[in-house]
Amino acid sequence: MMDHRRSIPRTDVLLADPRLAEAGRRLGSERVKGVVVAMQQRAREGAISPEEVLPAALAALPASASGLRRVINATGVLLHTNLGRAPLSAAAREAVDRAAGATDIELDLDTGARGRRGRTALATLATAVPEAEAVHVVNNNAAALALAATTFAAGREIVISRGELIEIGDGFRLPDLLVATGARLREVGTTNRTAVRDYAEAIGPDTGMVLKVHPSNYRVEGFTASVPIAELEALCRRHRIPLVGDAGSGLLRPEPLLPDEPDVATWLRQGADLVTTSGDKLLGGPQSGLIFGRAELVERLRRHPLARALRVDKLTLAALEATVGGPGTPTLDALHADAAGLRRRAGGLAARLRDKAVAAEVVDSAGVVGGGGAPGVRLRGAAVALDERLAGVLRRGEPPVLGRVERGRCLLDLRAVPEADDETLLNAVLAVAHHVPD
Ligand SMILES: *Cc1c(COP(=O)(O)O)cnc(C)c1O
Repeated sequence: MMDHRRSIPRTDVLLADPRLAEAGRRLGSERVKGVVVAMQQRAREGAISPEEVLPAALAALPASASGLRRVINATGVLLHTNLGRAPLSAAAREAVDRAAGATDIELDLDTGARGRRGRTALATLATAVPEAEAVHVVNNNAAALALAATTFAAGREIVISRGELIEIGDGFRLPDLLVATGARLREVGTTNRTAVRDYAEAIGPDTGMVLKVHPSNYRVEGFTASVPIAELEALCRRHRIPLVGDAGSGLLRPEPLLPDEPDVATWLRQGADLVTTSGDKLLGGPQSGLIFGRAELVERLRRHPLARALRVDKLTLAALEATVGGPGTPTLDALHADAAGLRRRAGGLAARLRDKAVAAEVVDSAGVVGGGGAPGVRLRGAAVALDERLAGVLRRGEPPVLGRVERGRCLLDLRAVPEADDETLLNAVLAVAHHVPD
């Protein structure tokens, strides 16, 4: 036993290995040392032999200094909250990389004077939505709503329909957020029906704003009525109360495939004073909250002390600008991927898997928008169906592949997988397909 222990290589000897030294420069020497020490300990315990310490340490090194891993989203859910919602476009990734070092985020390089923070991103958003007089960007849509509620209604009332008091997910309830700002909710109407008269009766000297929320993640069907922006506009104008709309899903303009999703431009044209939305849903960009609308109101938000606590960093502004002003996003590509194309890709993958003796077939699969958007919409597509027991091993593979278990099978839905990743997906499946657990 003592001999065995004495033959375990010393830490400094191991760390001098060129591959571990290189890993130290890439990942941090403390992290690499931690892995080495852990493997020495395993050898001391007899779990591995002394000769295995170095290869085991090399194998156990993380791929990156960050614990976040690149995964393949084969769930069929376009905007999967657990997978970081919208994947960034190549243009946005490049912009993030460029902005990561010192950058002219608040400097006018022509004059050398201080410039408006993120002015090019703001200009790009303004161009994308000419209906807006001004634009402001915060950390997410929840922050946009918190800022609006604080600025216009702290200590006062927000008039809102009972049918629009929504919970977004992970226990995040919009009414709780609004109340946390010090505003009081003046709920009007009923769960299924609210009329313009309900709003009119609730508005009074204490009203700070009227809020219209798109109930993005559920639908009320049957005997229903809600009041469109266009009808609230006249009422709010008459009382000089800001009409704020939470459009939620991130469409700046109408999307023909999602006719029930509101968009920023339309709500502004219909008379909303401000419209807020998320940057990482259908817009396909980084996590952010976008606020479009009347210049005077946007300016009040910008000047509020809370705005500083909600401001976005340079990486977000860079990615957002490249998303809005650049080429199409992976999210839009995935939304528009047609069923025939998905079926062809799935067929190709399944055939190549069968060539390697992996049971695989093509099945119809319905994708969804996800991220709490377009609840009724089923996106017709295709998936590669595998043995259900592969779901777990695929998830623990490299790269991890997230499929969907349905009707006793593991479905790899291709809708949210960029075509360029098909080869990676195939190899990830081949790497584990013969390790089906019993
Ligand atoms: C998603 C959503 C939110 C929350 O947006 P975040 O960007 O996640 O903060 C708020 N309101 C609506 C209607 C939404 O769909």
